[in-house]
Amino acid sequence: MIVVMNAHAGNQERDRILKLAEDMGLKYQVYGLKNSSVIAIEGDEKSSKIQQFEACDGVDRVVAVTHPFKLASRDVVGRSTVIKVNGVEIGGGSIVVMAGPCAVEGRQLINSTALSVGKAGAAILRGGAFKPRTSPYSFQGLGEEGLIYLREAGRLCGMPVVSEVLAPEDVELAAKYTDILQIGSRNAQNYPLFREVGKSKMPVLLKRGMMNTIEEWIMSAEYILSEGNCSVILCERGIRTFERYTRNTLDLSAVAVVKKLSHLPVIVDPSHGTGHWSYVEPMALAAVAAGADGLLIEVHPEPHKALSDGHQSLNIDRFGLLMEKLAPVALAIGRKI
Ligand code: PEP
Ligand code: MN
Repeated sequence: MIVVMNAHAGNQERDRILKLAEDMGLKYQVYGLKNSSVIAIEGDEKSSKIQQFEACDGVDRVVAVTHPFKLASRDVVGRSTVIKVNGVEIGGGSIVVMAGPCAVEGRQLINSTALSVGKAGAAILRGGAFKPRTSPYSFQGLGEEGLIYLREAGRLCGMPVVSEVLAPEDVELAAKYTDILQIGSRNAQNYPLFREVGKSKMPVLLKRGMMNTIEEWIMSAEYILSEGNCSVILCERGIRTFERYTRNTLDLSAVAVVKKLSHLPVIVDPSHGTGHWSYVEPMALAAVAAGADGLLIEVHPEPHKALSDGHQSLNIDRFGLLMEKLAPVALAIGRKI
């Protein structure tokens, strides 16, 4: 069971709960959530025991655990988490669009793309500097040089930036230049990496692994939360199925399921989710209609010349058109862009 302390509870009230758990012979773990602490008590979900904890001073509520995740659970937190990144709110009333090239290819390109997507209404600039490529012979990204260009472009346009980090030892470097650390699909169960981004306390954009169930994906978020980092944005990017006309199968039902199970914001990446630019617009519109808190869209001024993922990147005009079409869809479900 999970004992959620109220915001005014102090150490004394918390210690009384721990003592009660000890007296019952139950193991416990204390975690900090944004405004309160949470005590996860192992082993006994009997209603008589739950009632005993509920009766204690300082307790907001006691939740029986029905999922393997605790801190990511909506039952435990009871409200949606809004993550603020340099003035941009993710998970609030507005749909947040993150856009930019798959990879940072050079200074001029990222600057011009940033200006264009910002003008069209994107709130956050994306661009990979460490690229997880299936082939060791493909472009691997510019590394720190790419992060420097991305940071500059973000400043130029007044946009926070998001970029992928591949290895635990690169977290510190990536955190120096970015506002959100992205964990990609290929690292979706890299537990040492979760521990490191958790400790960094940076906002994290956690992609769903292409082979992961929704529960495994939320459990990955749980690792980051259990390090005391509550700023995790989940990103549905498609899973691998038998279908071959799309690169992945974009699982939009995951948006509804995650919204029900977790308090964390969830965004959708229709670029990797479909693998072709012509499917990006319809699936982006559908994602917003389904309740996604934002989108991650690959945009390149000249997709045919892109060093990675050009076939699924929108050009500037198509991105502008998509932004225009998104606004009425957001409005129809009571949100804005
Ligand atoms: C990316 O965002 O460029 C990327 C590599 O995504 P994914 O991890 O979803 O494949
Ligand atoms: Mn890509």
